[in-house]
Amino acid sequence: MFAGHRQDRTLLPSEDHCPLCPTREGGPPTEIPLAAFDVVVFENRLPSLVASPPEPDVAGSELYQVAQSSGANEVIVYSDDHHLEMADMEVGKLARIVEVWADRFAALGSRAEVEYVLIFENRGEAMGVTLHHPHGQVFAYPEVPPRAQLELTTATAHLEQGGTCVFCDVVARERADGVRVVAQNRSFLAFVPFAARYPYEVHVMAQRHVPSLLDLTDPERLALAEVLKVVLGAFDRLFGFRLPYVMAMHQAPTADHRWLPVSHLHLEFMPAHRTATKLKYLAGSELGGGVFLNDTRPESTASALRAAASGTPA
Ligand SMILES: [Zn+2]
Ligand SMILES: [Zn+2]
Ligand SMILES: [Zn+2]
Repeated sequence: MFAGHRQDRTLLPSEDHCPLCPTREGGPPTEIPLAAFDVVVFENRLPSLVASPPEPDVAGSELYQVAQSSGANEVIVYSDDHHLEMADMEVGKLARIVEVWADRFAALGSRAEVEYVLIFENRGEAMGVTLHHPHGQVFAYPEVPPRAQLELTTATAHLEQGGTCVFCDVVARERADGVRVVAQNRSFLAFVPFAARYPYEVHVMAQRHVPSLLDLTDPERLALAEVLKVVLGAFDRLFGFRLPYVMAMHQAPTADHRWLPVSHLHLEFMPAHRTATKLKYLAGSELGGGVFLNDTRPESTASALRAAASGTPA
């Protein structure tokens, strides 16, 4: 996706000029014309995807195909507190955010031009974040994005071979092995994947086969909030600072129901750090070959995260 106009966006404004804070009396107007709020969603002012996009400004050809960037790009501001991170929220507040995620998945997924809704969060300057106020984003794409499509295609092959959902099989295997589990409750399992790409990568997966947030019962949504609280707390206690990460949620495509048997709700957390002082960079093998090198063992990093989750210093 190209969005040339986005080069002018605000970079790391000071707290007094935060566009995601409430508009306070006598203060400058922000993106949110309210004196206080709980959770707010609005259309990104410089969106990468819009409902009625302009025609592409280059001509396509058979070799170089182009399409309008139709869809949506929303910002979810988690709270009106400039410093309140999800890790520090009460579970009840996290559950409200889960409700908002489900609401946006339903609303954007029902649009005719939308095939896939990706909910994500970029956290920390190491991840290129331009605004410190805790927030996430939603991209509603006009087609299934490649990483999600690869999972669906692979899961379809697994289903055709063995008759089971590969994610359900992974949940059962991780529960049985136990060594890569970071946290769990009755409805969700958080674990470092067997073939983790990033040292402290954590997947939070529904224990039963649910294609999206919309298929969760109310107690299951609360259980998701509870497990998130544990995982996010573990991330921040791991090295004693706010661990930068990218979180991306994989759910069912919204336009094509044939993927439901292989769509299994999970959140992938991809932290930037491989040690307290070193970042994991994507280099020759990752970018050139698509092969991730990971110099930690998932069993060891899971153990460190479990210790951090229980409050034991790393
Ligand atoms: Zn703010
Ligand atoms: Zn499943
Ligand atoms: Zn995934």
